[in-house]
Amino acid sequence: MQLPGLVIGGGIAGLTAAIALHQRGIAATVCEAAPHILPLGAGIWMAPNAMQVFERLGLATKINAGGVPLRAIEITDGCLRPLLRTDQARIRQQFGHGTTAIRRATLQQILLAELDPATVRLGKACTALAPDAAGVTVTFADGTAHRAAFVVGADGIHSPVRGQLFPGVRPNGTGHLVWRGMSAVALAPRFRRAIREAWAGGLRFGFSEIADGVVDWFAAVPGAFGSDRAGLLGRLQAAFAGFAEPVPALLAAADEPAIIRNEVVDFNPLPCWHRGRIGLIGDAAHATTPYLGQGGCQAVEDAYALALCLHRHPADPARAFAELLRLRRAKARHVVRTSRLMGRIGYLSGAAAELRDLAIRATPRWVSERQFRQVYGLNY
Ligand SMILES: Cc1cc2nc3c(=O)[nH]c(=O)nc-3n(C[C@H](O)[C@H](O)[C@H](O)COP(=O)(O)OP(=O)(O)OC[C@H]3O[C@@H](n4cnc5c(N)ncnc54)[C@H](O)[C@@H]3O)c2cc1C
Repeated sequence: MQLPGLVIGGGIAGLTAAIALHQRGIAATVCEAAPHILPLGAGIWMAPNAMQVFERLGLATKINAGGVPLRAIEITDGCLRPLLRTDQARIRQQFGHGTTAIRRATLQQILLAELDPATVRLGKACTALAPDAAGVTVTFADGTAHRAAFVVGADGIHSPVRGQLFPGVRPNGTGHLVWRGMSAVALAPRFRRAIREAWAGGLRFGFSEIADGVVDWFAAVPGAFGSDRAGLLGRLQAAFAGFAEPVPALLAAADEPAIIRNEVVDFNPLPCWHRGRIGLIGDAAHATTPYLGQGGCQAVEDAYALALCLHRHPADPARAFAELLRLRRAKARHVVRTSRLMGRIGYLSGAAAELRDLAIRATPRWVSERQFRQVYGLNY
């Protein structure tokens, strides 16, 4: 009997991969280290590329119903005057979907509900992989070992699976921190069903509704702001005091202990994401900084494309992983590099920021539309 596959990690990449594999009749079990599937962070924006994949998996309607399909995304100055606006109706016309903002917990519940509970095993931290000609023996921290036909490392930016395949890859810290929270605030109609990301004074603040009356927000700051939790809310309020409403109101309504801290990290694109029967997807393969809101979307794309490749080469996982790399590497690299650039541009201050704002306002629409086509279009 053909051995099943093992997916290491039950995040967005791992759960989506398991759904896509099962839909193509490929047996696979998800092994997640945590004893519970925990949402990492508050909300997440699922862009049109991920939504098109979810459409193919029959999940887009559920995700749109569980979240908030957006009508606009704007980059603004600190007074919330637009620098760049994307009209989601136009994007929807082109790609069939716009961006949907959703609580991570809701997204994960939707994904989990698609899977037979017997195929998701919690408290299974992978510690070692031993490939041979016929399969891979995977060892877990609980002392058990399982055989698999192939192994998918969907175990995030600090991926132990990647560590075993490509030792020495170290995530790059950018020095920036992102603080994220949710606030119960009724937004004015012009801010509803929209993302605003405001850039001013070397700081950035983004927010969008993720459910009725619930607003997901992030405050991105340079390292000098400090990572200390003591007096955090007061420091955030002082730093963003010059930003227009509703920024101060969102911070005033924040639940300080629930604010999440993320260090902004990525790593240089890898030339290869696989060795034989073991391959990487999602952040494990190509973690990116969050400035394009694409890390999770790229993970969703990998997961789906992987299932297509394994379906094409059921007896040859190495060939399937090689094909996945051919399909996905260029876009994943583009996202990592563009997101880094957006990171640098967004934190400018003083005269450089003034020049930046002028340049963005003067950018013709076709330039940003070309950028969207590169990121939102699917090539499989
Ligand atoms: C501030 C911020 C904002 C972001 N906003 C967005 C956004 O709006 N849109 C977007 O698309 N992306 C966004 N991202 C990126 C997104 O969160 C990630 O790209 C995405 O979560 C990656 O999913 P993943 O499944 O690859 O990895 P993860 O979500 O990290 O999941 C990895 C899983 O593997 C498990 N694991 C680890 N080690 C082992 C082991 N040894 N054995 C078994 N399991 C293991 C972990 O417990 C975890 O559950 C943002 C990121 C940040 C930091």
